[in-house]
Amino acid sequence: MARKAKGIGLLSGGLDSILAVKVLQEQKIDLLGLTFKTPFFGPAEGLAAGDMAGIEMRAIDISEVHLEMLKNPRYGYGSRINPCIDCHGLMLREAAKILEAEGADFLFTGEVLGQRPMSQRRDSLRSVEKLSGLIGRILRPLSAKLLSPTIVEEEGLVDRNMLLDIQGRSRRPQRELARKYGLKDYPQPGGGCMLTNEGFASRLRKLLEIRPGATVGDVEIIKWGRAFVLPGDTICMVGRKESENSRLEALARPEDIILSGSDHPGPTCVVLAPKETFDPETAASLCASYGDAPEGAQVAVEWRAGGAERKQAAGKITAQPRPKEFFKTFLL
Ligand code: SF4
Repeated sequence: MARKAKGIGLLSGGLDSILAVKVLQEQKIDLLGLTFKTPFFGPAEGLAAGDMAGIEMRAIDISEVHLEMLKNPRYGYGSRINPCIDCHGLMLREAAKILEAEGADFLFTGEVLGQRPMSQRRDSLRSVEKLSGLIGRILRPLSAKLLSPTIVEEEGLVDRNMLLDIQGRSRRPQRELARKYGLKDYPQPGGGCMLTNEGFASRLRKLLEIRPGATVGDVEIIKWGRAFVLPGDTICMVGRKESENSRLEALARPEDIILSGSDHPGPTCVVLAPKETFDPETAASLCASYGDAPEGAQVAVEWRAGGAERKQAAGKITAQPRPKEFFKTFLL
């Protein structure tokens, strides 16, 4: 009799990966689930999916390597700035390291042939396999019967007859399977991660254009508040509410500048690592304009360097609020 196989699954948080686990749980296979964290997604949804599927889970932070891949993806972007094929390839490569360390036999995903236009075409599934260096070792239990047998199927460690042949965009087979496995309140298909969001994609594109060496810290900051690009290619984030103000303040690093009005309530603004061309007057005026001071007033805007060194570099600028329309052209 064939020995018991061990499979490691990638769970993004969707129903399909939960179903892939359920299908494999019908065979005597040891299963472990992985989910990933980057500034753009996870890991909460993947962990919740693992919980629903009843599988031990691990969350892996791949923020830095993911951002580097995002700057120059081999297979390009989808409709926004989502490098889905490279992203899948990267996650599988990271999972491959764990496969090795755990002595597991195969990886599996909830991918369904033909379900998504970019990443789940037959040739994309193959490209992802190539990128990950795991040819023949990635099982897609939901579509396996439509794909070439993997090594574990050929070796008899996984029974191919118990795998499925789902394909296409219809969700009906998945709904029926969910019913079969007694899954209720399962996650509905989402539209992808933040990289598929048009507003965020244009912020990120601008950041990468201005700062090709952008770091995870830069990306975390541009997630909060309104984004402006001031003259001199300076990105300035303006908090829209108290929670964004405190988030921006907490994320600012020593190379960033924090601005806030001192005599009228107003937003916290963070200027991302300004260059020498940075004009502090414009940033102070922007900060004053989004505060409560009346037009024409003179507002004292305090500035200080972010991070632990904030006390060593600080000052005040007197600024005049302008109509918000003035800054509309700088709005990203
Ligand atoms: S939608 Fe986002 S998380 Fe999903 S594959 Fe594409 S880039 Fe990766």
